[in-house]
Amino acid sequence: MYKSFLIKYAEIGVKGKNRYLFEDRLCDQIRYALKRCEGEFEVTKSQGRIYVNAVTDFDFEEVVEHLKTVFGITGICPVVHVEDEGFESLCEDVITYMDNVYPCKNITFKVEARRARKNYPKNSMEINCDIGEVLLNAFPEMKVDVHKPDVMLHIEIREKIYLYSSVIAGPGGLPIGTNGKGMLLLSGGIDSPVAGYMISKRGVKIDAVYFNAPPYTSERAKQKVVDLARIISKYSGPIDLHIINFTDIQLYIYEKCPHDELTIIMRRYMMRIAETIAKKNACLGLITGESIGQVASQTMQSLMATNDVCTMPVYRPLIGFDKQEIIEVSEKIDTYETSILPYEDCCTIFVAKHPVTKPNLNVIRIHEKNLEEKIDMLVAEALETDEVLRIVYE
Ligand code: ATP
Ligand code: MG
Repeated sequence: MYKSFLIKYAEIGVKGKNRYLFEDRLCDQIRYALKRCEGEFEVTKSQGRIYVNAVTDFDFEEVVEHLKTVFGITGICPVVHVEDEGFESLCEDVITYMDNVYPCKNITFKVEARRARKNYPKNSMEINCDIGEVLLNAFPEMKVDVHKPDVMLHIEIREKIYLYSSVIAGPGGLPIGTNGKGMLLLSGGIDSPVAGYMISKRGVKIDAVYFNAPPYTSERAKQKVVDLARIISKYSGPIDLHIINFTDIQLYIYEKCPHDELTIIMRRYMMRIAETIAKKNACLGLITGESIGQVASQTMQSLMATNDVCTMPVYRPLIGFDKQEIIEVSEKIDTYETSILPYEDCCTIFVAKHPVTKPNLNVIRIHEKNLEEKIDMLVAEALETDEVLRIVYE
């Protein structure tokens, strides 16, 4: 029955000259998502609206599912096309439409006509009134409610006439590509995939870095991170995932520094390396899954110590979230089941029994001096191990 979709998007960030950029990026992202669907589609922009028109047969559910992954879309409205064969014929089409879409007639409605073609013989007000009356006659159980109708029936007069009345919620946010690129520190946990999703939702393209610690971590732990990146890329578009061998750095810190400061010092090296890779790849900030107080390495003092080594902004979208709230998002975006697979990550192996919860920055800096002899070389070597996987959701 449906031949196209009207795509609704929020007006925020769409003002003035940026509007075209925003809409063009949104069209690009819609085309990209539709490539994964059976069938051919045309994505068009006209008079401040974006339409997806199906050129061939398509699977409705599949198309809706993929449109729901496109940031910037607030609503997806399935549209029925009818030929303009005079007003009588339109009335019949509207009756058929309402009959099919709303088998239960005990509803209130309002008609909202819009003429994109001004030579139509009736104006919008006339269409609203006349179609309203026709519907009331055809379905006596229906009632008009102009303030809070159950059904808002839109009639758009174009070359053809478009009818639509339902809105399926989109993910919101801004289209990818309208806001630069960030480097996500992606572990196999629950938090960092959610953090990546949230920043990319604001129109930011993302790349990711994973610190691997073979043989202390398994190939399966790495595969889990690849799988998580793949799920995120469903929303964010392709991700370049950098895999860095971090083992020698961790062992060296373990050898030279107090064990209760291990995690903090290790986190500082992760941030330093991530920033180097971010700069090389034109990223404008780092992204982590940290949340205040969640673990010892995420107290205000610990975050200050970690942040101390960064010159780029560090985006921590989960900073004020409780674990349960993070889990809810991870379930929604489908990363949860993968995140909870029980493979060790590098942090859990080198973690101290009683890590400091209030590290003193000066003390940390002094203890890091113990690493002076070899650390620059080890960091350079780690950077050379950079294995880049291009992750694309298909
Ligand atoms: P997550 O659930 O994201 O793993 P976490 O609760 O385990 O987070 P930490 O281990 O303290 O918290 O890590 C804090 C953040 O540091 C993570 O959210 C992630 O952004 C980054 N991070 C931690 N371990 C790694 C790793 N092995 N590779 C890349 N980034 C990491
Ligand atoms: Mg973790």
